[in-house]
Amino acid sequence: MIPIAKPYLTQEEAQAAYNTILSGWITQGPKVEEFEKQFAAYTGAKYAIAVSNCTTALHLAMIVAEIGTDDEVICPSLSYIATSNAIRYVGAKPVFAEVQPGNYNLDPVDAEKRITSKTKAILIVHQIGMPADIDAFKQLCVKYDLKLIEDAACAAGSAYKGERIGFHSSLVCFSFHPRKVISTGEGGMITTNRDDYYQRLKLLRQHGMSINDRTRHENAKVIFEDHVELGYNYRMTDIQAAIGIKQLEKLDWIVKERRKIAEIYYNAFKHLNFIQLPFEKNEYYSNYQSYSIYLKKNCPLKRNELMQKLLDAGIATRRGIMNSHRETAYQGLIDVNLPVSEDLQDNSILLPLYVPMDKKETDYVIDAFLRLLVVKPHYTLDLTVLK
Ligand SMILES: *Cc1c(COP(=O)(O)O)cnc(C)c1O
Repeated sequence: MIPIAKPYLTQEEAQAAYNTILSGWITQGPKVEEFEKQFAAYTGAKYAIAVSNCTTALHLAMIVAEIGTDDEVICPSLSYIATSNAIRYVGAKPVFAEVQPGNYNLDPVDAEKRITSKTKAILIVHQIGMPADIDAFKQLCVKYDLKLIEDAACAAGSAYKGERIGFHSSLVCFSFHPRKVISTGEGGMITTNRDDYYQRLKLLRQHGMSINDRTRHENAKVIFEDHVELGYNYRMTDIQAAIGIKQLEKLDWIVKERRKIAEIYYNAFKHLNFIQLPFEKNEYYSNYQSYSIYLKKNCPLKRNELMQKLLDAGIATRRGIMNSHRETAYQGLIDVNLPVSEDLQDNSILLPLYVPMDKKETDYVIDAFLRLLVVKPHYTLDLTVLK
């Protein structure tokens, strides 16, 4: 069976977690601080703040950007639901805009049309690791006096115009869920260049506490904390951070390996006129968190049929990225027509991509895909090939 994804974790990560468990300090402490410093250095951002996951990172980003009740935030519907949920957590309204069919990312032209007097921010998503057009959105934000927030859940290790994601704006949110390119089990990070955001994010993730428990622990004098505003417990543990430090060391290598597999797929399928493959525009650098193929109208098999036949052959795939506005939790809330986003969800398929994925495995996926779509759409595949 070929899975859709696998985290790349080794003995090193296990050892790091082991050492931390026996160190006597297991929740947010020295390892979190070290991970933050290294992540900030990696992205080129001034600061990084570790949190429990990317959903809580996005929630805190909304708060420090001062998004509140009745405000509107423009974002794609074609994303994981956590993107738009974060806007709802602060009582604001997600305003869904269309994406560009070639790269699944928010379309700046359509986004501009949806700006109203209530719009406070644009939340862009670097979908499945492909950078969005950050400069176009920066310009829009300057023109209309809006905040820019980046959902970079999938984009650790991706780059835009020569700089790694995390560097370009003042609120960039990352995820370390096992489905992303590096993982701490659960985990998130916010990068920022602003001192005021940094200070407030540190407070908010830890109950709004003026003095953290580590400072109290290390102080020779008795000191008392105050809770200066309504905060949350969105801390990352030191066990997770210890794993994250090891993962971060491997990130560039993992991205290079993922890009090699993406290139193998690209070369194997580029001659097919009934599919649209992911492609990078000049100066865009994707970590290929997922490899999504769009099936055009003339594709010999419908998407679900193709998925089933691949599964029958031992290959796990996933449907295209979801649309939040189609989910039950959004019914009656937002009435919107997004034909491009819906078409992409219905007719895209994600192929397996993980590290290490050996030649036998990529060959098998490619062979199955080509046999099903080119040689004989109703062919039953021979599972013994892999053995
Ligand atoms: C995975 C993902 C999230 C949520 O990340 P968690 O760390 O699981 O909370 C948010 N946005 C996007 C685009 C994602 O892919």
